Amino acid sequence: MGKVLIIGAGGVGNVVAKKCAQVPEVFNEIWLASRTLSKCEKIKSEINNIKLKTAQVNADNPNEVIKLIKKSNPDLIINVALPYQDLSIMEACLATGVHYLDTANYEPPDEAKFSYSWQWDLHEKFKDKGIMALLGSGFDPGVTNVFCSYAKKNHFDEMHYIDIMDCNAGSHGHAFATNFNPEINIREITQRGKYFESNKWIETDPLSIHKPFDFPEIGEKEMYLLYHEEMESLVKHFPEIKRIRFWMTFSEQYLTHLEVLQNVGITRIDPVNYEGHKIIPIQFLKALLPDPSSLAPNYKGKTNIGCMIDGIKEGKKKTYYVYNVCDHAECFKEVQAQAISYTTGVPAMIGAMMILTKKWQGKGVFNMEQFDPEPFMEKLNIYGLPWKEKIL
Ligand code: NDP
Repeated sequence: MGKVLIIGAGGVGNVVAKKCAQVPEVFNEIWLASRTLSKCEKIKSEINNIKLKTAQVNADNPNEVIKLIKKSNPDLIINVALPYQDLSIMEACLATGVHYLDTANYEPPDEAKFSYSWQWDLHEKFKDKGIMALLGSGFDPGVTNVFCSYAKKNHFDEMHYIDIMDCNAGSHGHAFATNFNPEINIREITQRGKYFESNKWIETDPLSIHKPFDFPEIGEKEMYLLYHEEMESLVKHFPEIKRIRFWMTFSEQYLTHLEVLQNVGITRIDPVNYEGHKIIPIQFLKALLPDPSSLAPNYKGKTNIGCMIDGIKEGKKKTYYVYNVCDHAECFKEVQAQAISYTTGVPAMIGAMMILTKKWQGKGVFNMEQFDPEPFMEKLNIYGLPWKEKIL
């Protein structure tokens, strides 16, 4: 039914390629390209049921992406490289008339500031070209946005208070490691916190607000308020929201390591001179830390990510909680990945499926909550991320 070009052969790219290969009736041709060809070849060697083609590409350069698009002729690009490549890949899509999907919004390499503004600015260009960009089709952002639109459609006349809660209660046996790209992950966590209340954004010191929550199938964990990108689009598309916050759990051990790394300056993103070379400390740190995909074989435990929503239905107050629980070891058994890569890669595949099967159609740049949530929610149950709901 459709050809996809996946860019990025890291932890998430591995899952996307394998999940697309599980649905050959939709993805009848798959290309996988990344900066390092050997990573694509390794993933290819683990997929037997479908012919997957590989290529080397530096996606920072739109001309290289354009050349690859002309060679592979895809209907859609699934961008699971890094957020830095979002704009150059979108530029290549505009030049060639190919649909676009990603899982993380653009951020400039020299400033830890993520915002949809750069990508939303391309809406008219995508519309004029008659193509579609689907932004943030991972878990959070991604499924969390769809959880909210599903809640609105089925449970609320108005959603007033939303708490998005992301818990990873897994253990990988390392003293310190990040679950996805270390540079992107540490930039996200160490920036100032931010949430939306009474029509304005309120900033907080990094990780300064926290509270315990009893996560189903996991138990009580301390969760910390962070800024996360889906809040920006949810506030735009559901103007009735009075407050929205994002919470993520961290262990004390993780936070202690992070504090030390910050205090010694190795999470800095500005270049420093080292023996006549310019190095960016956080990139050097990335080279020292375990590759997130290498955590998969020994990862035990579960993740729980969901949305707690308070609002009004037919004049009455209502609280609705929807979440998914994912098991690290089960993910490894299925696609040799840990649950963070899995919970990102599966929704990327489903988002691509929505576009290729024309369940979700549009011309321009869109976020997940702008489309009918039902077909996406149905596929989550089929392709490995079943969800549960509670009316409290
Ligand atoms: P990894 O670092 O494991 O993988 C990224 C891959 O992209 C690497 O294989 C890397 O290649 C490749 N890459 C980097 N730069 C370029 C470039 N210029 N050209 C071509 N390829 C490039 O990261 P993850 O797989 O963990 O994460 C992938 C994306 O998913 C990130 O954007 C991350 O923010 C997002 N994410 C989203 C989540 C969500 O829920 N929405 C959750 C988790 C992650 P090489 O190794 O050769 O350098």
